Amino acid sequence: MKIRCNNCYKVLNNDEVWCTRCGAHSDEVEEIMKSGITPIDESEIGKKSIIMYLLFAFVINGFLDVLFGVVFNSVNSGYDLGDVGQNLPLALTTFSSINSLMIVGIILAPIVFLINYKDLKEYFRIEFNKKSITSLVIGVIIVTFFAFLTKYTNINFIVPYFKDFLMNHPQEMLLSGSVSTFKIIIILLLFVIIEEIVFRKAFISWLDQTTLLPDGVIIDLQTLLSTALQVLCFLLLVSTSISNYIYFILSNLCFNALLAVNYYHNNRNIFINLIIRVVFIILLVIIL
Ligand SMILES: [Zn+2]
Repeated sequence: MKIRCNNCYKVLNNDEVWCTRCGAHSDEVEEIMKSGITPIDESEIGKKSIIMYLLFAFVINGFLDVLFGVVFNSVNSGYDLGDVGQNLPLALTTFSSINSLMIVGIILAPIVFLINYKDLKEYFRIEFNKKSITSLVIGVIIVTFFAFLTKYTNINFIVPYFKDFLMNHPQEMLLSGSVSTFKIIIILLLFVIIEEIVFRKAFISWLDQTTLLPDGVIIDLQTLLSTALQVLCFLLLVSTSISNYIYFILSNLCFNALLAVNYYHNNRNIFINLIIRVVFIILLVIIL
């Protein structure tokens, strides 16, 4: 964790017993120098995690999307792609995006896990006390409500075509021969792990270390950024209506804000968010 000067709030280096800005003494830095245990530099870890996320969820995901599109096209030669300027057929876009999301998830989850491995213990605490159990119960009630909203309204917390598949099993998606409930569950679970580590743990501690922003602003920023990245990653090549985009964005802004508040409320514990989100996935699959 970061150490700040008690007087001027500057972030102190590991050997800065006397603050180089205001000259105040830091007992915490002195303690570190005596014990010889250097705290982990979380700003580096945060930066690395975000870069890896951008690389895989955006660049490599986009590349794989196109690649699978080409594969689909050559396997199903003669498939009507429609006219230039029209949306690509649903069978093709679902085939390419579900396969690339699956590959990205399988590779990216262990990478962010390894990058954050050393200090993950601190953020992944399994503790059951009054506070965490209350958060869990409230969280489960809220996601149950969200799952029903997803079923009965246009509000949508998952990718529009995931919702469409779980609810209707459209013929055209089945035609692609690649979409299944099992794959959707695996992708959602992998991205829950990735998003909690990258958006909540790594990104928040990076902002915390490199800026002097108050917690409220950090929660707002991470809500905006994590939702933007989710849209980039999940809706990259998927052709869907503007209203689907808007519902997806607004629902996830709300959900990300709640998850960030919950993370702070539980003294930076991602375990509770993970349980709530896994319950949410199970509920969505059952209810939809
Ligand atoms: Zn100072």
